[in-house]
Amino acid sequence: MTHTSTAQAAARDLLTTLTGTAPQGIWSAPGRVNLIGEHTDYNEGFVLPFAIQHRTYAAASPREDGRIRVASTFADEPVEVSLDDLGRLFPTPAGKAPAVPEWSAYVLGVAWAMRALAPTPAEHGADIAIASDVPVGAGLSSSAAIEGAVASALDELWQLNLDPVTLAQIGRRAENEAVGAPTGIMDQMASMLGLPDAATFLDCRTLETRSVPTGFTAEHLELLVIDTQVKHSHSTGGYRERRASCEQGAELLGIRSLRDAGVEDLPRAADLMDDVTLRRVRHVITENQRVLDTVDALATQGPRAVGDLLVASHASMRDDFEISVPELDLAVETALAHGAIGARMTGGGFGGAAIALIEHASVASVSDAVARAFSDAGFAAPHIFTVQPSGGPRRDA
Ligand code: ADP
Ligand code: MG
Repeated sequence: MTHTSTAQAAARDLLTTLTGTAPQGIWSAPGRVNLIGEHTDYNEGFVLPFAIQHRTYAAASPREDGRIRVASTFADEPVEVSLDDLGRLFPTPAGKAPAVPEWSAYVLGVAWAMRALAPTPAEHGADIAIASDVPVGAGLSSSAAIEGAVASALDELWQLNLDPVTLAQIGRRAENEAVGAPTGIMDQMASMLGLPDAATFLDCRTLETRSVPTGFTAEHLELLVIDTQVKHSHSTGGYRERRASCEQGAELLGIRSLRDAGVEDLPRAADLMDDVTLRRVRHVITENQRVLDTVDALATQGPRAVGDLLVASHASMRDDFEISVPELDLAVETALAHGAIGARMTGGGFGGAAIALIEHASVASVSDAVARAFSDAGFAAPHIFTVQPSGGPRRDA
């Protein structure tokens, strides 16, 4: 008997309740963790994420009445629109909330972006039910997972045969223009291109990718995720401000994006901009270099050589980009004090998760130490688990 995850079963059951019959298929896509390269994606720089074993499932069946209906275990009510409505609903005007419940905009936005690219017959609709074991808002990209699962389902139901990079672009467009979250393409690419035991190096300007073996398994290493449970919100405040600072910094440097600057440009940058903008710019420039150094270290020296780069990345986000929070700092400091090879906050910041690269044998001791430190500090108990580099989207049933 094959293993069926509870989220997969939940998606199947929800679709069956919705339509009265079993789904035609079930598709899934993984969340991702970013090993290094934070806030570099929208600056056309470098990132090194990997897909994780946590997945979002989309159980789906085709409809022939031009309607699309979506349900999620997160939501009390399904949302139903006609394909014609999609063009009226999206793009969501800048600064406005989507005209449909926000969670459903991820799903309907994928349908909209997909039809914009590859027009399907007007009568081709779908019923879709979503369930997930990717923690939401933890910096593990439940959003790319839901987009990837839905994109994979519709691609097959509507017989489009789009390639993974195009499906990633569809997911990004849904998130940017339907949901209204101004994110880069890293999450969707990491989810779509995931491979076991490997991270995905991505050049966010050219979209060139390279699979980079992590060597974690052979070296008996684990990547511990410490989800602080502090919720971030990408669509608001800090994230937009950081993007604006980066754009301003690039403009002052006279370059298209911060990708075009290197550490040798930092003295010039210091003369051109105010202290806050300089520190934002310095984070992005040094972080790009750290991604390249990490890829190099993994290839030439193995995973134990990347610890200092992870630690430097965290310091840069804490001090220069100013997107850490006390819970993330405590998670990183405690993991390092208990023998972690490296640790850093991961994801967009303002909450979410930290990662720590540790010996397999010390999973329990580091986890216990972090839990104790949180309790002593009066913080809510963190959610702590390990993630393994895993495969991309697939059809499960
Ligand atoms: P992250 O991607 O870091 O988890 P985001 O804010 O980018 O956080 O995306 C989370 C949002 O994605 C949720 O608030 C919800 O709207 C949507 N989402 C994710 N997973 C699901 C799901 N299983 N069902 C419905 N909506 C989901
Ligand atoms: Mg997200």
